[in-house]
Amino acid sequence: MVPLRRALRLVIDGKAEIVEADFDRVIRLTRFIHVPRRFRRQVTNTFLFARDRYRCQYCGRLQIELKPRESLTRDHLIPLSRGGANDWTNVVTACSPCNTKKANNLPSEIGMHPMHAPVEPHFVHLSWAVRRLTATQAKYIRLFYGEETLHHLEDLEHRHPHHLPHKIS
Ligand SMILES: [Zn+2]
Repeated sequence: MVPLRRALRLVIDGKAEIVEADFDRVIRLTRFIHVPRRFRRQVTNTFLFARDRYRCQYCGRLQIELKPRESLTRDHLIPLSRGGANDWTNVVTACSPCNTKKANNLPSEIGMHPMHAPVEPHFVHLSWAVRRLTATQAKYIRLFYGEETLHHLEDLEHRHPHHLPHKIS
């Protein structure tokens, strides 16, 4: 699943071909393009907030419950300044006040522990968490990843319909 602009680029470059085209716009890759693991694993705030369901992992507030000047941020359990890495198992979603409060402390030092221990999420789950799948896309998810994955993704959608505003190509 890629944004429409990127999909068009892949087709124009001959790296992908259109196998089904309607408003759902499905293409498949004709060549495998290796993406180094370090890039695939890169944490973006979009995916991080999706993994944590748009909820501050310290005070439990949802993004929509934050005050006007507050925002969701990325917090490092082990602060970068103290040798912490910027990877999935060391980052959690935190509202700006909680992030400020935690500052350069370890969770144990300040007594702030995340609601869920951070783990690296499955890429397909992330894609689904930030986008809404169409019927055609669901068909291909079932084909490539199986019924179980599709059901898992559908569950996510029904639980978080207001967090899925973007249609994908
Ligand atoms: Zn908070």
